[in-house]
Amino acid sequence: MISDLLREEIKRFKNYEVYNIECKYKMDANEIPFKLPETTIENLQEIVCNANVNRYPDPVSMKLKKRLSEYCGVLPENIMVGNGSDELIHIIMNAFVDVNDYVIYPMPSFSMYKVYAQIAGANRIEISLNDDYSYDADKFINAIKKYNPKVTILCTPNNPTGTVISKEDIIKILKHNHGLTVVDEAYYEFYGETVVDLIKDYENLIVLRTLSKAYGLAGLRVGYLVANVETVKCLSMVKSPYNVNSISQAIALNVLESDVIKNRVEYIKNERQYLLNELNTIQGIKIYPSNANFILIKFNNADYVYNKLIKCGILVRNFSKDPGLYETLRITIGTREANNYLVKCLKEILQ
Ligand code: PMP
Repeated sequence: MISDLLREEIKRFKNYEVYNIECKYKMDANEIPFKLPETTIENLQEIVCNANVNRYPDPVSMKLKKRLSEYCGVLPENIMVGNGSDELIHIIMNAFVDVNDYVIYPMPSFSMYKVYAQIAGANRIEISLNDDYSYDADKFINAIKKYNPKVTILCTPNNPTGTVISKEDIIKILKHNHGLTVVDEAYYEFYGETVVDLIKDYENLIVLRTLSKAYGLAGLRVGYLVANVETVKCLSMVKSPYNVNSISQAIALNVLESDVIKNRVEYIKNERQYLLNELNTIQGIKIYPSNANFILIKFNNADYVYNKLIKCGILVRNFSKDPGLYETLRITIGTREANNYLVKCLKEILQ
């Protein structure tokens, strides 16, 4: 059997499955509900032609790095661009994690930390969040002291709970950690607080970001990380040379130069508050306050609600069987129309 040839780490492996059910309202994957900015669409032909797709792409995405470095207030050398931040998590594990090294991450959190740590053959230490999904920094510090991990991952705002870890707590953890601390800020723009400035003081800090969320470019697959120059050099050793395609580099650069982001983020933050207020009028559900563009809700029977919502044409993310998330659904904030329709459907389903 071909599967006998698999690496030992992969034999027991359960990969990340995406359930892509066609629904009018797609509120499952934490994307924003907006298309490319008008100015980008107007210039699309020129952008694509100038991308010279007969040539390989710029291996280090230099123009993009320059623009991102201005956005983050760091040097271009502090940045690495990836084929989504997914790829960057993989690159971090490939560069630093040996079989049986320890990797620490929160639970529940973004599932790809576990996937890439497993592929690396790492020992995984999952630190549970508190009952209200807040972080307990001391739990991380104790685990760091005990296991001396190569990589510790923090996700803030955390997917799928929307909760955050404070900068003070991140500093406390950084002070105890000799391995790498990766702070995943995929949803940074919806929250507004960052630890990017700390890369000056902590050479073992990596901040992960993405253009898939607030910038609305999930389909282009562009993520980036911000870290010490030395760390970026180490990571470059395992990066595929042409990891980000030329069209993605060119469109991402154009979108970064447009000024739609502020309005879009404001719109989503405003809808987050609106949706929270509306959801709060529904009896019998538990809502977790969120700092991101999604809201986690606990139901008495999440599977039932999930299937009913699909019948209404709304796809959300079902975590009903996931440890630490039993009976929860995660709903991505949509347009006012989508949010109103969601609330109406939920009221009908739960009445
Ligand atoms: N980190 C977190 C916390 C996420 O939620 C996601 C996407 N859901 C990613 C990283 C990966 O994003 P991408 O690969 O699209 O950049």
